[in-house]
Amino acid sequence: MQLICLDDDPRMEVVLDRFLRRFGHAVDFHVSVASFKAALTSDDPDLILLDLGLGQESGIEVIHWLGKAHPGIPVVLLSGHGDELLDTVQRIGRSAGIQVLGAVSKSRAAVELPTILKKRLTQAAHGPRQALKMPEALTRKGLEGTIRRDRIAPYFQPIVSPADGRLKGAEVLARLQLPSGKVLGAHEFIPLAESTDLIYAVTETLFERLIESRQTIAGSGLGFIAVNLSPLILQQERALVLMRRLVDGLGDTCAIKVEITESAASAYPEIVRSVAAQIHLMGMSLAIDDFGIGHSSMRVLAELPFDTMKLDVSFVSEMFDSAKALKLLRAMIRFGQTLELQVVAEGVETEAQRQVLIEAGIDLAQGYLFGKPAPLELLADTFSVPNASAGA
Ligand code: C2E
Ligand code: CA
Ligand code: CA
Repeated sequence: MQLICLDDDPRMEVVLDRFLRRFGHAVDFHVSVASFKAALTSDDPDLILLDLGLGQESGIEVIHWLGKAHPGIPVVLLSGHGDELLDTVQRIGRSAGIQVLGAVSKSRAAVELPTILKKRLTQAAHGPRQALKMPEALTRKGLEGTIRRDRIAPYFQPIVSPADGRLKGAEVLARLQLPSGKVLGAHEFIPLAESTDLIYAVTETLFERLIESRQTIAGSGLGFIAVNLSPLILQQERALVLMRRLVDGLGDTCAIKVEITESAASAYPEIVRSVAAQIHLMGMSLAIDDFGIGHSSMRVLAELPFDTMKLDVSFVSEMFDSAKALKLLRAMIRFGQTLELQVVAEGVETEAQRQVLIEAGIDLAQGYLFGKPAPLELLADTFSVPNASAGA
């Protein structure tokens, strides 16, 4: 593998060269930003090793430059500073559009670098990363037709008590069944629905399907179902018509929780306040979704009648990134519980994450570790609830 390295400390050249050669890699070493940039214009290496402390010059600036000039070449960051800075800079790199494979503290380079290089080699062997292609290009017209043909399906993802894995409720996630039989995930059509004002029709159809399967829901052992409400619907008078129909349609089948994202809640606090109050009056509860990454979080929580806080998935997926990340997660859980909210962790994928969440006293958890979103019948099978499909 051909590597290029920018580090103002010439002693690093000897260190790197010696040990990279052992693994059969060649490294082109530069101590100045100018010569590093010049080398990149004539050559396309497989990997960049970038030191962050460059004396007079800044590694951060180089990162931004790379994002514009050479976004395709993956980067490994080197630093003589602590892990915390590396974590911050890794984020800067990702938002600048470059692929940051990892960050290595110089004192541990000999131990950590080989693992990262190995990862890069396996990646290269599988060819360059291809952009994800839409299986069938979906247009507004296509989506409209599909909604009409009742191809919107509710999938259910279990929400459990993490200590014993007991099923407490489920989040309803929309899926689109294409005529070809392919099932599209929400991220593949919800944005289109939102940008073409079809989101109301999607939600309406989804709710109708839920009402149709009320008997299956009743036998499924779910204490509650949680539905997502787009900010675009919240802004419409008919939002309440939609919610009223769901409440009446499901009757006493199970409790209903409405999820509103933190970004919607902070963008339209007045509208959300009024809708939230009416949602409560109809007997539903309210969750703030993807909490912790938006703005004005604290205020929104204090002023709006939420019962549940769903922590943004990033708190779970990044909990082991640094000691601070772990502390932040614990503090967020305590914070939610201090406000007497039920706190839910999303995106739980590993046993290690589950253990941390249990120790931190989380109320509920959701994620692939407990179950992926699936049709209700499959969810009931997984959790083997007696009489799960009785009367369906
Ligand atoms: P969300 O409300 O945050 O839903 C959670 C998303 O995380 C779901 O993606 C779920 O499949 C995914 N997920 C669950 N567990 C894990 C895990 O362990 N690891 C990972 N990596 N992902 C996990 P999905 O179903 O693709 O939905 C994406 C988003 O689309 C949802 O995010 C929600 O904002 C929106 N959405 C889904 N259904 C509806 C709907 O009926 N109406 C509206 N307005 N939005 C919806
Ligand atoms: Ca949600
Ligand atoms: Ca969420």
